[in-house]
Amino acid sequence: MLKNFALIVFTILFVASHALSAEPEVVKLAEGVYGFIGKEGATNSGFVVTDEGVIVIDTQGPKELALLLKKKIQEITDRPVLYVINTHFHGDHTFGNQYFKEAKDIISHENTKKNLIERDQQNRGQFKKFFGERSLEGFELTPPTKIIKDTFTLQAGGKTIELAYLGRGHTDGDIIVYLPKERIMFGGDLLYKERLPWLGDGHISDWIETLDKLKDFDAGVYVPGHGGIGDSDVLLNLRHYLIDLQLEVKKYIKMGKTGDEIKKDISLPKYKNWFKYNDWLPLNAEKAYKELTGR
Ligand SMILES: [Zn+2]
Repeated sequence: MLKNFALIVFTILFVASHALSAEPEVVKLAEGVYGFIGKEGATNSGFVVTDEGVIVIDTQGPKELALLLKKKIQEITDRPVLYVINTHFHGDHTFGNQYFKEAKDIISHENTKKNLIERDQQNRGQFKKFFGERSLEGFELTPPTKIIKDTFTLQAGGKTIELAYLGRGHTDGDIIVYLPKERIMFGGDLLYKERLPWLGDGHISDWIETLDKLKDFDAGVYVPGHGGIGDSDVLLNLRHYLIDLQLEVKKYIKMGKTGDEIKKDISLPKYKNWFKYNDWLPLNAEKAYKELTGR
């Protein structure tokens, strides 16, 4: 018993320290444009350094990572943070907001602000499940101060940054951040690279349509919310995954299988090397089943 307990404590400490020791990497994508890329599919952020100040795209969740992001920005520039953009409401992208309070505005879609405020307790619970019971010590909810409904263009210090809400997908308030001159797209969690998407708040059919609209942007570099930087394949592969997931679940429904059976039996070998394949495929299948059957 004691041995088991010690093993559990050791495992928790190891996993927690490992999660934070695998530091995100700062990648320069263009003049003044950087990705802050989590290891092994962990959460990505970005930042744009302009002549006037810095625009931060997603503030990370755990305090250590938010402060690390801040430190990495300060190593590159001594200009202040002008704006923060939250691509969607999930804690791993927004709970670091409190460390960027000097920003003139924290910008998001209206539903992101709403979800952060109205679902606060639920969001905190979800966050602790991922990052541990003590991960929210000192946390203060810091919601967006400026909301957008569809599109918004941010001009700051010589940089143009377009924000757009294209419809429901990973949540009901995802916005993408697009730099037309640099042809760089920060997709938030509308984009995942080589990692199964989290569908807990997602809408699969809408997501596929939203990804189709995303193809209209002339981007060469895509920074997903999770996974490494890539080209338009990031978008196309995730779109294929969502379609394959739906097709496979439809096939099982036709065979008369129940939701629970599908959850247990489904396999999508094409994606077996993506992060979270074993953990999230049953959940993804359950979501697809519910959407397709309306149950
Ligand atoms: Zn998310």
